[in-house]
Amino acid sequence: MPSALGFPVMFSTDSCLMKDSAPNRACGLQRLETFVPNAGRDYARNRNSDHGPERRDNVSVLSPWIRYRIITESEVLVRVLEAHSATAAEKFIQEVLWRTYWKGWLDQRPAVWHQYVVECDQARETVQSSPDLERRLEAAVGGRTGIEGFDDWAQELTRTGYLHNHARMWFASIWIFTLKLPWVLGADFFLRHLLDGDPASNTLSWRWVAGLQTPGKTYLARPDNIEKFTDGRFRPKGLATRAEALKGAPLPSPAPLPPAVDEPSADLTDQLLLIHPEDLHPESLISTCGRPSLMLLLEPEAFLPHWPWGDKAKRFVSGACDDLAGRMEQGGHGPVQRLESIDAESIAAAVTKAGREQLFTPVAAVGPVADALKQLEKDLDREGIQLVSIRRDWDQAAWPLATRGFFPFRKHIPKLLARAGLG
Ligand SMILES: Cc1cc2nc3c(=O)[nH]c(=O)nc-3n(C[C@H](O)[C@H](O)[C@H](O)COP(=O)(O)OP(=O)(O)OC[C@H]3O[C@@H](n4cnc5c(N)ncnc54)[C@H](O)[C@@H]3O)c2cc1C
Repeated sequence: MPSALGFPVMFSTDSCLMKDSAPNRACGLQRLETFVPNAGRDYARNRNSDHGPERRDNVSVLSPWIRYRIITESEVLVRVLEAHSATAAEKFIQEVLWRTYWKGWLDQRPAVWHQYVVECDQARETVQSSPDLERRLEAAVGGRTGIEGFDDWAQELTRTGYLHNHARMWFASIWIFTLKLPWVLGADFFLRHLLDGDPASNTLSWRWVAGLQTPGKTYLARPDNIEKFTDGRFRPKGLATRAEALKGAPLPSPAPLPPAVDEPSADLTDQLLLIHPEDLHPESLISTCGRPSLMLLLEPEAFLPHWPWGDKAKRFVSGACDDLAGRMEQGGHGPVQRLESIDAESIAAAVTKAGREQLFTPVAAVGPVADALKQLEKDLDREGIQLVSIRRDWDQAAWPLATRGFFPFRKHIPKLLARAGLG
């Protein structure tokens, strides 16, 4: 299937990541167990090295499962803190909290995501009228620029759906400062191929590299740093030696989070629960809020054509939905009705048939799923049904603290862990 840029989306199972990447909870938990012994001081020492796709034992590669909340941040940290002290695991804890921080930051500034979407559409139009830009873009996403490392990462990403964090930083920096390509199209290329493609982590990390997120501060990829952290596999020539921050609109001030019921005070008993790809672990909601009489599961198809992720992520999420439906059945959590479209009328009919006037759903962080739910909320309202969002306790505690940079946010981590019972 062609991507938005017109290039084929490839998929294979030949990398270390893909071999044991079954899109189910059991596989995520197994990966967590395998990684836990390495999550302490070893992680802090070794995490920056990209040893290549065949050797990923210095990082967890848990991001696809964490991204869709197939496994939750708190359960990852519970296991890590059973095996290591908070001091030894400090670095790993901070990385997991980076994800939480980006989510909270963007949820308080949704305009940054919507502006990115607009700029992306504009950049695609510009490409169509500029053969030179189109040629350079094709070379970059096809891994044919002649830049060592960069070309390998482009191919690794399209083949496996994963890149090491350092490779993501080098790639974005070379894309922006050496190849001088529009940053939004680089972020789009990532979103269409990453298994863990995420509106907050991806957009804000690209903005951070470009100097748009922390004004004036950019990330410059250097050949010696790349050589050191790729075990000498790559030492690219001809990289930009300066990284001047891109110009952009001033950062918007944080706005209050949209209204939602806090997880501990929500009562789902005999209610209807709408599940979506931003939060695929209903068991933890049910254990705090009660057992619903029916779960409606929105599959990735329901978000087409606005699903901005590629085929690999779509297949991963579809598999995760199959797994979820099976788990709910086997665990006696209640019946699941799978939905391949967001049809307000039939959803309203299901709610009415159950004798209810409300439909509950976990909050979807800013992005296409949240946009689709916002529209559904309006449509259901016309049918006399109220869509009630439940904000996870983890998000409720952390997101409002993401008002400035990560460093002020980081100070709150001990308090956040204590609130989650991990202190
Ligand atoms: C340009 C760029 C784009 C990125 N796009 C995404 C994206 O779309 N989705 C995504 O999940 N992450 C993204 N990241 C963050 C990070 O690269 C990945 O989360 C990480 O590489 C995933 O690998 P891992 O699971 O082995 O991480 P580990 O090092 O094992 O970390 C454990 C977990 O912490 C979280 N995490 C770690 N580092 C970061 C980080 N810098 N920012 C946010 N969360 C982090 C992830 O959930 C990860 O699974 C991006 C980073 C950059 C520089």
